[in-house]
Amino acid sequence: MAIDPLRKPTPQDGTSGPPADLVRFDHVVKRFGDHVVLDRLDFGVQRGRHVTLIGPSGSGKTTILRLLMTLERVSDGVIWVDGEPLSHMRGADGELRPASEKYLRGARRKIGMVFQQFNLFPNMKVLQNITEVPVGVLGLEKEEAEQRARELLDLVGLSDKVDAHPSQLSGGQQQRVAIARALAMRPEILLLDEVTSALDPELVAGVLDLLRDIARSTDIILLCVTHEMGFARDVSDTVMMFDSGRVVEAGPPEKIFSDPEQSRTREFLSAVL
Ligand code: ADP
Ligand code: MG
Repeated sequence: MAIDPLRKPTPQDGTSGPPADLVRFDHVVKRFGDHVVLDRLDFGVQRGRHVTLIGPSGSGKTTILRLLMTLERVSDGVIWVDGEPLSHMRGADGELRPASEKYLRGARRKIGMVFQQFNLFPNMKVLQNITEVPVGVLGLEKEEAEQRARELLDLVGLSDKVDAHPSQLSGGQQQRVAIARALAMRPEILLLDEVTSALDPELVAGVLDLLRDIARSTDIILLCVTHEMGFARDVSDTVMMFDSGRVVEAGPPEKIFSDPEQSRTREFLSAVL
């Protein structure tokens, strides 16, 4: 099983070796004011896996992805990516301390995210939407970034939209640009947060097919939040069911969708399927 939510967390004394998982949440707490959204959450994702997070609205799925994207900071606990602390950095004494902005900028380079609402830069053409961050943050040569952007636009089927503005594109096309933009950073991990929820129904299948292709043809780790259970079944090795910021159960999709152990999972699935 890719994920063992019951596995003991690694000690947090800062002297133990890093965890073997690609992504590991160790006792992660996230509070917004008094509201505890994630309460000592422990889970790991092994290398090479595609994982889908399911669960009711408000269960903390987006918060998990936003913590990984370093758009939010943990209130307590440690997030590890690829053996390095993501939420923290090591001091000279080897102790973990909260990450600085500079450290976070470096740490988040392994990770890309695609949002429900596309979040394209509205004032930039499609090509520049894709090259802006690779040039501005990674320091890629403009020409190299543009060539890569054209290849990615070809991959997502939008070669003819290089010079379009986002407002001239359908939702499905905008989401394809957002996927190309995330891939332009060559992430090791791609976070997908309900990326088809804002699309008109006839545009959903095309975007899901593109993501299936990416799942098949690259070694990028996908961490998806989705209500598209057919898609989750196709692409994921592991499905994790969340409720109230906790892992209810995790397992292969055949098991979770057909024969879940927990009544909470059964209730949720019967409501969405
Ligand atoms: P999901 O994606 O599973 O629907 P979220 O992670 O978006 O859940 O939200 C989990 C809980 O955290 C919800 O109760 C939500 O209202 C709360 N929450 C999320 N972001 C914020 C925020 N920036 N400020 C306050 N509360 C938030
Ligand atoms: Mg959400």
